[in-house]
Amino acid sequence: MEAQLRQESRRLKMDFEKLKSGGIIKQTQRDLFTVRLRCPGGKLTSEQLRKAADIAEKYGWGEVHTSVRQSIEIPYVHHQHFDAIFDELREVNWSLASCGPRIRVPTSCGGCTYNPNGLVDTQAMCMEVDRRYFGIPTGHHKFKIAFSGCPIDCARSRAMDLGFQGIAEPRLVEELCNGCGLCVGSCDENALTLVDGLPVRDHEKCTYCGDCIKVCPVDAMVAARKGWLVRVGGKHGKHPIHSYEVAQFPSDEQCFALIEKTLGWYQANGQGRERIGTTIGRLGLPKYLEEVVKPLGLEIIEKPGERRKFKAEGNMYT
Ligand code: SF4
Ligand code: SF4
Ligand code: SF4
Repeated sequence: MEAQLRQESRRLKMDFEKLKSGGIIKQTQRDLFTVRLRCPGGKLTSEQLRKAADIAEKYGWGEVHTSVRQSIEIPYVHHQHFDAIFDELREVNWSLASCGPRIRVPTSCGGCTYNPNGLVDTQAMCMEVDRRYFGIPTGHHKFKIAFSGCPIDCARSRAMDLGFQGIAEPRLVEELCNGCGLCVGSCDENALTLVDGLPVRDHEKCTYCGDCIKVCPVDAMVAARKGWLVRVGGKHGKHPIHSYEVAQFPSDEQCFALIEKTLGWYQANGQGRERIGTTIGRLGLPKYLEEVVKPLGLEIIEKPGERRKFKAEGNMYT
C-alpha cells in the first residue's frame, strides 16, 4: 500500500504528507482523497452542515463520514476539485482540519450548555482552545485535547494527550439537611454514609461527580466549587496509555497556561515520534509536575503518580 501511495504521489506530483497535514488524506482509490473539515467540539452551524452536503454531492460521491473525533469528512473527492472546495468553504467561514504532528482539533461533549449531567462549559473551552492552539506543530507527534462535562467522560479525556473533565466538590449545609439519605443512595462510589442523621463524605472515594448535589431536594448539598480535572499523557491506538490525573480546579486561564507549558515541555523533552505519555513515562511524572504543573501554582491532586491500572512496562491497560 505504501509503495502504491509513493507511486501515486510521484505520478500526481503531490506531497501526500503535506496534504494530510492540511486535512486532505489520500484514499486507496486512484486520484481520490478524503477532505476532513474542522469541527471543534463537533459543533456545526446548519449552514455549514448544508455546505458539507452540497460539497459531497458536487465533488464527492454524495457521502459524508463523521470521524470518531467529531470531524465531518467528505470522501471520494478528486484532486481537481480542491480549489473549488476551498472557495465554497470560505463562503461559510469554514476550513479544513489537520493531521500529523501538531495540535489537532479539540473535541468536546455538550457539557453544561445542554446536557443535564454537565458541570462545566466544555463547548466554550473547546472553541477557545481551538482558536488559540489548533495546528501548532509539536515537533514529535499528534497532540489531542478533549473536554468532558462530567466523570462519565463521554469525550474520553482519559485517553488524550491533555484531557479536561468537569468536577464539582460537594459541601453539606448542615442546617438545611433533613437526613433523607437521597444523596447517599445517589453516590455510585459509596462515598457517603449517614452518621447521626447527616451525610459524611469519604474524600478518598469521592470522584467529584456532583450527583449528590443534584439529587438533594432541599439544596443542603451544594457545590463548594466547580471546575476541571486535568489529565495528561493518555492515548489510544495500537499501544494505549492511560493518562495521569495531575491537577484539579484550575481556572480557565490556568488551563490555557497549562496547555502552553505542556506543549513547550513536550517539544523540549520528547524524542522522535513518541507521544507525550511515552515522554512522561520515560522521564518520570515528577519531572513533568515539577517543571510544568507546580510553576503554574495549580492544585496537584493527591497521589498523581498512581495511574489507574497502568502497567508501566507495556504501556497497556490491564
Ligand atoms: S461527559 Fe457528562 S456532560 Fe458530557 S455528554 Fe457525557 S454525560 Fe453529558
Ligand atoms: S460528588 Fe459524587 S462521588 Fe462525591 S460524594 Fe457526591 S455523589 Fe459521591
Ligand atoms: S439529600 Fe440533601 S437533605 Fe437528604 S441527606 Fe442528603 S444533603 Fe441531607
